[in-house]
Amino acid sequence: MRVLLIGTGGREHALAAALAADPAVTSLVCAPGSPGMAALGELAAVDALDPAAVAALAVESGADLVVVGPEAPLVAGVADAVRAKGIACFGPSQAAAQLEGSKAFAKDVMRAAGVPTARSFVCTAPDQAAAALDEFGPPYVVKDDGLAAGKGVVVTDDRDAALAHAAACGRVVVEEYLRGPEVSLFVVTDGTAAVPLQPAQDFKRIFDGDQGPNTGGMGAYSPLPWAPPGLVDEVMATVVQPTLAEMRRRDTPFNGTLYVGLALTEDGPKVIEFNCRFGDPETQAVLARLETPLAGVLHAAAVGRLAEDPPLAWRSKSAVTVVMASAGYPESAHKGDVITGADNVPGVAHSGTARRADGALVTAGGRVLTCTALGATLSEAREAAYALVRSIHFDGAQFRTDIAQAAAEGRLSLPGAALE
Ligand code: AMP
Repeated sequence: MRVLLIGTGGREHALAAALAADPAVTSLVCAPGSPGMAALGELAAVDALDPAAVAALAVESGADLVVVGPEAPLVAGVADAVRAKGIACFGPSQAAAQLEGSKAFAKDVMRAAGVPTARSFVCTAPDQAAAALDEFGPPYVVKDDGLAAGKGVVVTDDRDAALAHAAACGRVVVEEYLRGPEVSLFVVTDGTAAVPLQPAQDFKRIFDGDQGPNTGGMGAYSPLPWAPPGLVDEVMATVVQPTLAEMRRRDTPFNGTLYVGLALTEDGPKVIEFNCRFGDPETQAVLARLETPLAGVLHAAAVGRLAEDPPLAWRSKSAVTVVMASAGYPESAHKGDVITGADNVPGVAHSGTARRADGALVTAGGRVLTCTALGATLSEAREAAYALVRSIHFDGAQFRTDIAQAAAEGRLSLPGAALE
């Protein structure tokens, strides 16, 4: 199978590693790719947001399967353009990607499908937003309706800050605060059949103890020793199947990864958000544990034959992923610092790196690297992941020291004291 993978981040690096390790994959092209992915496949330049350009590259590279990593190309219609060339594509159509592209759309689908989620209002004017905030009270949750690279959501006790965010965004979803630990569940689907991966938890805030501003994610682990038994089955029945049925009913079946972000509230699991692709950095932790070759699963989903596949097999190990970010992240990203110890190291995925003309690897983004390790227990996986972090150096590197710590100690990770 010849595979074309679209994207540049740590998630795509982990996908590339899993695809390259699949014996069925005879060639892998990563576009645009990263210095880290250069060791796993051939790199090809492409504007990932240009559907016609990606489709042309898929034809040119003789791809049997195109895997689209990030949300923005999907929302731009890349999967439609690839399929129009008769090439299998893992990733939803532009219409189905609206589950992530518009929070208001996602809420409408959830309402129609009867999916448990926070009560919400779509607001376009300041007085509407103010009324919605007062309906729910603090903590206030205000979400930019459109794609915002993880930065569109404000959760605050400060009513003025909530109003200011609403005014800055224009069209927002104001919703009730959901109290409870968060779980990320990735579901691979062909639109009808759906296969859950093992749940993970990520750490959104920049500092230890879940302090500081939200980021794209600072670490992750899987499995979740504290998760209630039956959680995945319950979410498949109450969230995933009704959502997929509603998308089929609308003639926009969802094919790809449905990422279900959940809060485990006192009233059961409720959806915080849908994404239309794998999460970063949870993918690094989850794929480290997947034994089943990945390309076959994604191809089966892309061509509508997922129901014929055997169940996924998992390593009975724990995985921990720690993100190393550049100085100033998330407000800014310091670029050009020389990185040592991160070239072709198993478990190290490049999120924001560049190759300088003299061959040196340098920082090139907010999140720079992710370090993932397996262990017999979460504690051992933590130790191994942090050993990887300590073996890498660049000026100003910041990382959390408490990824998976609470879970490893048999406590529940924050946020979410509510499930005690
Ligand atoms: P989202 O981009 O929708 O995942 O939101 C980013 C983060 O904001 C989530 O991971 C949660 O930590 C938080 N968040 C979003 N919506 C809610 C909510 N209704 N209640 C509590 N926290 C939320």
